[in-house]
Amino acid sequence: MAKETKAGFRGHFDHLSAGELAFPFCEECGRWHWYPMPLCPHCRSSRLSWRPVSGTGEIWSWTVVRHAFDASHRDKLPYVVALVCFEEAPGIRLVANVEAASPDELRIGMPVELVPPVPGEPAQHAAFRPVRPTQLA
Ligand SMILES: [Zn+2]
Repeated sequence: MAKETKAGFRGHFDHLSAGELAFPFCEECGRWHWYPMPLCPHCRSSRLSWRPVSGTGEIWSWTVVRHAFDASHRDKLPYVVALVCFEEAPGIRLVANVEAASPDELRIGMPVELVPPVPGEPAQHAAFRPVRPTQLA
């Protein structure tokens, strides 16, 4: 795995398409980083691998986008862009959409989970949704 792609986002998107979340991990110093880089930003090692995490994180912060800066986003307004952090991967804050019923339900520290990919389609970005207590049918 350490010989895998060392730079670029391909490993991230390959894992996303399989329904997994993965980040670059340094086999030398045991630390995570984000975004992908050719060398570990902590110790400069090239012994990097893509390591999956559970896909459950917490909202570190968020904002509500109410203006479409690109015409293709007009029908998605308003939407939430958040920084999501992961207990398993300290130091990483991933910029991602959070699909919430209403932005009013969001709070800092709220648990969120990765939205599964659409089968057969390559993942375009990581999206999360609030973790809900198990509901009885
Ligand atoms: Zn390192």
